[in-house]
Amino acid sequence: MAQHRTAIVTGAARGIGAAIARRLGSDGMQVAVLDLDEAACAGTVEAITGAGGEALAVGADVADEASVTAAVERVADELGAPTVLVNNAGIIRDNLLFKMSVDDWDAVMGVHLRGSFLMTRAAQQHMVAAGWGRIVNLSSTSALGNRGQVNYSAAKAGLQGFTKTLAIELGRFNVTANAIAPGFIETEMTAATAERLGIPFEQFREMAAQQIPVGRMGQPDDIAHTASFLCSEGAGFVSGQVIYVAGGPKD
Ligand code: NAP
Repeated sequence: MAQHRTAIVTGAARGIGAAIARRLGSDGMQVAVLDLDEAACAGTVEAITGAGGEALAVGADVADEASVTAAVERVADELGAPTVLVNNAGIIRDNLLFKMSVDDWDAVMGVHLRGSFLMTRAAQQHMVAAGWGRIVNLSSTSALGNRGQVNYSAAKAGLQGFTKTLAIELGRFNVTANAIAPGFIETEMTAATAERLGIPFEQFREMAAQQIPVGRMGQPDDIAHTASFLCSEGAGFVSGQVIYVAGGPKD
């Protein structure tokens, strides 16, 4: 049972974040649906409230310190002290190393690494005060290396070290930290990758599925299921782990 827990899911207007937010809502948590554009969160909020849950749309840029501070304070005031945090917001700015701009490097580091740091630093005080917490960070199979993603793979590998250190520092407060490393999941992000490569999405899906042992692409709900487990009351002895959710072994 996960009653009376308040969760923040970043980048939850769509894709994997929206699926995680809906799932934590159906698990009985109050959910802050956080994304850059507050209005864009309406669909996820309505899905949660329509199913009998409680949710709040929060507009914030996870890479901006003042925005993060204000957002976490607002969640604590309007929904309850956040003791579950899912750092899911993400962007891609793919290019081969020799063509990659400093702006594209910085933008990716800003959202994934700086964003997860700022959100976690702001939220952990509520977890420590409550003596209970769950942090889930979205890594990726790209952490193992992926052509055209030197910025993204470095950020996603960085999140694995970030996760393990959180687990070590926050364990004494009954706060766990784990990472999920998804493989190929069907969202707007992967549609954008197909477009960059000039491959129709349907063909891209088929090519991807052929490489995946279970023979299909992942869906956002595959990731939401794993996040639900890691955020559950019973997962308190699982910490500092990276779970590859990729339809087969990856590391
Ligand atoms: P998505 O469909 O592109 O959704 C990402 C969400 O994050 C968007 O709503 C986006 O808002 C939001 N966002 C971006 N920058 C933000 C910021 N600075 N502050 C707050 N929100 C921000 O991506 P997805 O495929 O669901 O991916 C979710 C996470 O899983 C990401 O961390 C991604 O790297 C990771 N992942 C995805 C896959 C995959 O195959 N899809 C695989 C491995 C890992 P806007 O729409 O306003 O930009």
